[in-house]
Parts: sequence; structure tokens; C-alpha cells
Amino acid sequence: MRTPSQDADISKTYDAVIVGSGAAGGMAANVLTAKGMQVLLLEAGKKINIAQQLRSMEWPYEHARRGDLPPGSHALSFNEYTIRKPPYAKGTAFKHVYSYVEGWDGADYTKNIVVDEKDHPYTGTPYAWVRARCVGGKTNIWGRLALRLSDYDFKGKSHDGYGEDWPISYADIEPYYDKVDRYLGISGIAEHLPQLPDSLFQRPTRLNWGEVKLRERLKRMGRVLTPYRAGVTTDGLKHNKYRSKCYGRGACRRRPGGCDIHAAFDSPTGLIYPAQDTGNLTLRPNSTAYEVLVDPDTGNARGVAFMDSETHKTFEAKAKVVILAASTLESARLMLLSRSRQHANGIGNSSGHVGHNFCEHVMGPSITGLVKDLVGKPHTLDDGRPGGFYIPRFRNLTDRQPDFIRGYGFEGDSGDAIFPPRALDTPGFGAAYKKTVRDYAGAFINLGGFGEVLARYEHFMDLDPDVKDAWGIPVLRFHYEFSDNEHKMAADMVNTAREMFEAAGIEEVAADREVLTPGWSIHELGTARMGNDPKTSVVNQFQQSHDVKNLFVVDGSTHVSASCQNPTWTIMALAWRSCDYLAEEFKRGNL
Ligand SMILES: Cc1cc2nc3c(=O)[nH]c(=O)nc-3n(C[C@H](O)[C@H](O)[C@H](O)COP(=O)(O)OP(=O)(O)OC[C@H]3O[C@@H](n4cnc5c(N)ncnc54)[C@H](O)[C@@H]3O)c2cc1C
Ligand code: SF4
Repeated sequence: MRTPSQDADISKTYDAVIVGSGAAGGMAANVLTAKGMQVLLLEAGKKINIAQQLRSMEWPYEHARRGDLPPGSHALSFNEYTIRKPPYAKGTAFKHVYSYVEGWDGADYTKNIVVDEKDHPYTGTPYAWVRARCVGGKTNIWGRLALRLSDYDFKGKSHDGYGEDWPISYADIEPYYDKVDRYLGISGIAEHLPQLPDSLFQRPTRLNWGEVKLRERLKRMGRVLTPYRAGVTTDGLKHNKYRSKCYGRGACRRRPGGCDIHAAFDSPTGLIYPAQDTGNLTLRPNSTAYEVLVDPDTGNARGVAFMDSETHKTFEAKAKVVILAASTLESARLMLLSRSRQHANGIGNSSGHVGHNFCEHVMGPSITGLVKDLVGKPHTLDDGRPGGFYIPRFRNLTDRQPDFIRGYGFEGDSGDAIFPPRALDTPGFGAAYKKTVRDYAGAFINLGGFGEVLARYEHFMDLDPDVKDAWGIPVLRFHYEFSDNEHKMAADMVNTAREMFEAAGIEEVAADREVLTPGWSIHELGTARMGNDPKTSVVNQFQQSHDVKNLFVVDGSTHVSASCQNPTWTIMALAWRSCDYLAEEFKRGNL
């Protein structure tokens, strides 16, 4: 196991201090250290040996509880999120309480990666907030779907009049998407779609028979089914000795996520270890930042106050530039916590927009179908790949839907799996039951929608005046719920999924119209949005605070709108672009 440096030099003034070591912070550390800057990376969570945690080669029957959490640990259910209000772990008899993600199969392997809700409460409206506090953050278990945004997203307002355009267009970020593709690896096939630009793909994963059939039928409807665009290196990366190429064991999708050979991108092996190898990075895990410190004369950032997460001892890290990358909601929290004479509203918040314009993806509606031709056919290794397939947005591109604006895409999957699909929904018992389960196991196909939630000023998070976390730091309070546009869009998801199955001759066996609790998508975005106008935005197009020139916020908080495409590849492309700009400004003495 690599032992990261814990010896942050508190007397030294670093060129830059970064808060958070996930996709955003890892990218910032990688880009800046490659340019020779001396960087301190503060991470609230532990450095854990991920491969040892994940044990990807372990079969379910080798685990005492087939991968389940130990007694006394509890994963929140949909009903708990719906009926109750946060803090969800309050008053519970359980020793540990986790988000719904730990209700998935194999959660015992990831229980040290996600947070215990008992230590990390939040308040306000219902919200399923999934957090990972350890080196690498959520990238250790992310779902790997790596998509680009297009000008339908960056210029959404110009297209339909709603919200704000981003201060950049696709042409500005395209070279950085290319860099991320080449540096980290992505699998998929080119489809030449204006709403979902292609990446520089490595070998794609293969569609199975039912998926090919659906793909062919969808072509006639002007819709596309494409192999999962996975942020996974399928051909290998010669420049990165910490990662291996995918050999299709499917371990990453049979459990809540994670790949012990790091074919799937994660921030530690993809970004942080290479940054450490430059000799310019100091990584300090167990360091919970709680305030951006300000120079009393200039109002500029002068460093970060942090607490050792284990001993609760406090320190100040000094730096010429401060970079927040603690994830969308945590970065906003830190900005709101950083009140001073010069920044009474929280640092970088003269606009009053920090914590506002929150957006994400609405999820829930899904459909399962039966590909009858596959019933009784020999079993195949369908789940031996890092993902199934994706159907990109097709609504409100050239058409105008009467009920809602923007759009949604479908993530889908089909075929055999380690646990036979729908075994628990199959009636019967004994030998006949087992035969039915086996015969049908490879014949199911399902689709689940991910739709764009509109950014609204009135959807916001602020600091709870009363509740504090286990470190005594005020927690976030949510003021957010889905609006009419999201509900109407969600209703449309099931209708169009049905229409596609019908066209392909796939028999519908189950459909779910229920919308899941806000937050379920784990794609939180937009609490410190970028823009040209300092009165209505928090950072400029280079994620630099309008108010404090040496403060940058490089995570999803700066996204102006959510798109319906998954955000992580965009987070990293933007962070790379901003850090190129930052390093240039630093060299010129402008920061
Ligand atoms: C199960 C799952 C599936 C997902 N699937 C996909 C997918 O398919 N596609 C996709 O694009 N995205 C997916 N995501 C989302 C993706 O993981 C995030 O978009 C991405 O990790 C965001 O990167 P980040 O750096 O902003 O945040 P994170 O990865 O959360 O990293 C933030 C880091 O900051 C640290 N931190 C927080 N507060 C502090 C503090 N005060 N002081 C110091 N450190 C702090 C945290 O401990 C953490 O390590 C998924 C996430 C999960 C959990
Ligand atoms: S399928 Fe590929 S990415 Fe997933 S766990 Fe296996 S090797 Fe890793």
C-alpha cells in the first residue's frame, strides 16, 4: 500500500492548497503539480487501501453474509427518505447508518468508503445525500458512465429561453474533454450526435443480443442505443503504472462500485499518485477544512483552516491560491462557513448566489421487458463488463414537448447476471421454480431514466443555525424539491420507454412510475455557478471567484445547468481548463 505523506508543513506557504481529493481535487492536483507548483491537498477522509476493501475477486458465497453489512449497520430505504425528514440517523438504535447506496448488494465492501450518517447529519427537505469521505471521494465507487455535454446544455437558454447560458460553449471545453479521454481512458463507440458529442474512445464493451435488437429498432425511430460510455481503460494506459486494462469481470457493477485493478477511473490511481510522483504534492488525509482564511488587508484568500479528523486538533495551511474541490454541496458549505469582515455573507458570495441554483438529475421511472427469443437459451457472461448501454436524450432537440423543457436519457442493462434477474419476482417453488428462473435469467432488459432538473434560485442550501456535525461544524440545510417540469418529464419517461419496447417486440413485464427522492442520482450540481455577471454568478468561466481572485472552485458547484448527462467527465475537463489558466496567471504574478 502506498503511504501518502502526512507531513504537511504548516510553516510553509504552498503555491496552492486544494480541499478535496475526488474527481475535481485530483484533477487540480495533477495539473498544477505537473506545471511545477507546490501543492497541498487536504482530504477530510482516510487513505484506505481500496483494493483490500473491494476484494473484487471474492465470490458472494466466500463472504460470511454474502456481502451484506454487519448486524447493527443500516442502509436508509426509499420509504425512510420519503416519510421522514433529515437528519435521518437521528434517534436511531443502529450503530451505523448509511445512505441508500449501502442497501445494494455487496455493501460490506464499501462501508468504509461512504460516510456514516450519524457523524454527518444534514437538515431541511428530504434529500438522499450520498457522500464518500476518503482519499478519492466518490470516484472510488462511481458508476463509470462518462458523458460529454453539448451546446444543447451550454447554450440551453438560447435554445429554449429558460435559465442562463454557460459562459463557455462546447468549442471551449472540447480540447479538455479530449485531454481527459486520452489521459484517463474511456470506452464506447462514436455515434456523431449533436446532443451527445463523441469521446476519443478505446475498445467498446459489447452489446448482447437483446440490446442489438433494440438498437436496430430504435434507429428507425431516430433514437440511439449505444454501448455504455465507461470511464474505464479497456486498452490500457501506457503512461499510468497504477492502472490496468479492464478484463471484464463485472465486479464494479455487481456491487456498489469500485475496481481493484483500477481499470475504472478513480482519482487516487488516475490523478493523485501520478501527481505525487512529481515530488510537488503533499497529500494530507484526515484533514477536515472548515474555513477559507482571508488576508485582513486585501480580503484575498491566504489559506485554509482545518482540523485533524481524528484528533480534532486545528491547523492553518498557508497558500497563495486556494482551490475548493470538496464536491458541489461541501464546497458551498465551506464558502458559507468562511465569513469574515470582508466577506460577511461567506467568501465569494457578494452575489448571494452561493448555495443557490442547485440542480441535479431526476430518477425513478423505469421499465423491464422480456426478450422472448432469449428464454431458455444458453447462459452468457452478460454482466462481465463495466456497464450496459445508454440511450441519449431525444426530447426537445428539434421538437418542442408541450409539457416540459429539456430532456432525459436512459441507462439500461440486460441479460444474465451473477444473481439471476427477477428471481425474487418469479412465482413457484422447487425444481420447476429453479428451471423457470434459469430459463428466463438472460432474457430481461431494463431502462431507467435520468432527467435534467432545472436550476432555480429558490432551490438552495444554507447553514443550519443549530445542528452541527461530529466535528462541531454547522451542517447544510436543504430547501429543495422537484417542480412541475421534473414530474412531467418523469411521466414521459415511462411512456417513451414503453413505445421503444413495443417497437422492438419486447414484452413489458414491469414498469415503475415513482419518482425517487431528490439526490438519488448522486449528480449534485450548481451551488456556485459560473457566469460573466458577478451579480448573478459566483465564479467566472475559469472557476475563479469574482470576488476573490486567488480563490477557485473547481467542482460541479460551478455548473450552470445540470444537462441530463452524467457530470464527472465535465467536472474534470473544466477543472483541467481552469488549472491551466490558474497556472498561467500564477506565473504572471496575477494571483
Ligand atoms: C454510487 C455512485 C455512482 C455514480 N455514478 C456516476 C456515473 O456513472 N457517472 C458520473 O458522471 N458520475 C457518477 N457519480 C458521481 C461522481 O462520483 C461525482 O460526480 C464525482 O465524484 C464528483 O467529484 P468531486 O471531486 O466533486 O466530489 P467527490 O468525489 O465527492 O470528492 C470530494 C472529496 O472532498 C472531500 N471533502 C469534502 N468536504 C471536505 C472538507 N471540508 N475538507 C476536506 N475534504 C473534504 C471528500 O471527503 C471527498 O473525498 C456516482 C457517484 C456514486 C457515489
Ligand atoms: S469489469 Fe473492468 S472496470 Fe469493472 S471491475 Fe472488472 S476490470 Fe474493473
